[in-house]
Amino acid sequence: MSEPYAKPVPSLDDLNRPFWQGCRAGELRLQKCSSCGHIRYPIAAYCPQCLSEEAEWTKMSGRGTVFSTIVFHQVYHPAFKNDVPYNVSLVQLDEGPRLFSNVVGVPPDSVKVNDRVEVLFDAVTDELTIPRFRPVAAR
Ligand SMILES: [Zn+2]
Repeated sequence: MSEPYAKPVPSLDDLNRPFWQGCRAGELRLQKCSSCGHIRYPIAAYCPQCLSEEAEWTKMSGRGTVFSTIVFHQVYHPAFKNDVPYNVSLVQLDEGPRLFSNVVGVPPDSVKVNDRVEVLFDAVTDELTIPRFRPVAAR
């Protein structure tokens, strides 16, 4: 039996709940502005381009490119002590937005800028599924 999940978890609210529901359903969904079509992330109540409040949660391709990457060796939170070293990468989705995540399934220091990656969904608790990425070539 696994131990209880001890890492920090997001606070779900009416604004971000569709994102996390999408992850549970195996889809990376972001807000697409109903007025100008801009896809925004971080999740926000207003479009940063046209200030419209109207948006539709839209499934992304799940594919992107590593924009920035680093390996964490320091344990900043005790729940991560068995994870170091681990990779933290800023992934630019093909649709444009950038998300901080982890590139997994490969040695953490093997991830390079411009690597092609695709999303996978890591169900860490019954309620929480975290989007992570893996190199496209590693399938
Ligand atoms: Zn807009």
